[in-house]
Amino acid sequence: MWTNQARIQRDIEELAKFNATPGQGLTRFSLTAEDRAARGYLRQEMHNCGLRVYEDAAGNLVGRREGEQADAPVVMIGSHFDSVKGGGNFDGPAGVSAALETARVLHERDIKTRFPIEVVAMIEEEGARFSASLYGSRAMAGLIDTAQLQERKDAAGISMYEALRQFGFNPDEIAAARRMPGSVKAFLELHIEQGPILEAEGLEVGIVQEIVGIHDMKIKINGRQGHAGTIPMHLRADALNAAAKMIVRIAELAVEEGEGTVATVGWLSVKPGGFNIIPGEVEFSVDIRSGKRQHVDNVSRRIGEALQEISSSTGVVAELSSLMNVPPVRMAESIVDRQLSICERLGLKHRLMQSGAGHDAMVMAGVAEVGLVFVPSLDGRSHCPEEWTDYAQLQKGVEVYLHTVLELAEAES
Ligand SMILES: [Zn+2]
Repeated sequence: MWTNQARIQRDIEELAKFNATPGQGLTRFSLTAEDRAARGYLRQEMHNCGLRVYEDAAGNLVGRREGEQADAPVVMIGSHFDSVKGGGNFDGPAGVSAALETARVLHERDIKTRFPIEVVAMIEEEGARFSASLYGSRAMAGLIDTAQLQERKDAAGISMYEALRQFGFNPDEIAAARRMPGSVKAFLELHIEQGPILEAEGLEVGIVQEIVGIHDMKIKINGRQGHAGTIPMHLRADALNAAAKMIVRIAELAVEEGEGTVATVGWLSVKPGGFNIIPGEVEFSVDIRSGKRQHVDNVSRRIGEALQEISSSTGVVAELSSLMNVPPVRMAESIVDRQLSICERLGLKHRLMQSGAGHDAMVMAGVAEVGLVFVPSLDGRSHCPEEWTDYAQLQKGVEVYLHTVLELAEAES
């Protein structure tokens, strides 16, 4: 193999050190001290293999390697380096390491490519700090403006606009992060599977054909706060009671839609939150996913209808706001075909698959042809401290990734 397992392992282990919650999983939120420290490591690694390092207006870190052809569109490779709260060491960094390792191999073998290559480390893919999932890639796709940066706030009430400014970026220039159509030839990402399929089937590499569509929304229920002892049941507008009915209905709607459609309420806030207070305000998240857009749209619409019904029967007022709505995305067939034949050539056990998780690649599909390689996750675990991929397994995925990049960037042999 051309890639080096020890270097990949070192990337993962070094990045894991930039962690706000040592001993309780990896927590690396965007635009924090841990983020800055991780950038320091990545910047040095990029520099060491001859990449020209810069940061775009959105805060993505990029290392560029020129190609032989002037003004040729770039082959972009990478993943994100932020994490969820208390997550694992591989979600994101595995793909950043794959891109770095690719650049190292090109550098040490002095391989020239026709197209330039950019290694990118994206920020705020998880959206754990600002609820702005896939932010780095959405900025590249021209989908983020300053108004959104001002709206999105972290738990402490700091807007993304302010956080970017304090970190040293200029949020007023966010539009400059946009990659114009035609300027990116392809975007290639490697990611851990985050599910149990590859491991269960004894496979080494997954070639993703399609990423599910995702609709994320926030629902706010305004009821009437009051004393838990003095107000009879029939005179209440209990925001949490109404929310509970809605949440039960949301899961039913996904099941009724079928074909693997899923809907999840993963976050809920109750105000004011006391044993003896009827809740006056409840907010919760809804995340709907399916490989078919129609299913996501149907469930979204029916959730809206259910909110109306339950609101009028319980005396609350519900507001629904859409945070993100991304259609299912197919990976470029030409890239999938290349990846399949590379797996054959390298003798790796592989399969085509769907991704139930969103990735930067799905957003980048609006900008360029995209490809996504999966490596197995031990026990299918992810977004938890136990998240693990054996380094030997990871290296096999990186090898497929490297050879795909060589073909896409048209390496001179
Ligand atoms: Zn990820």
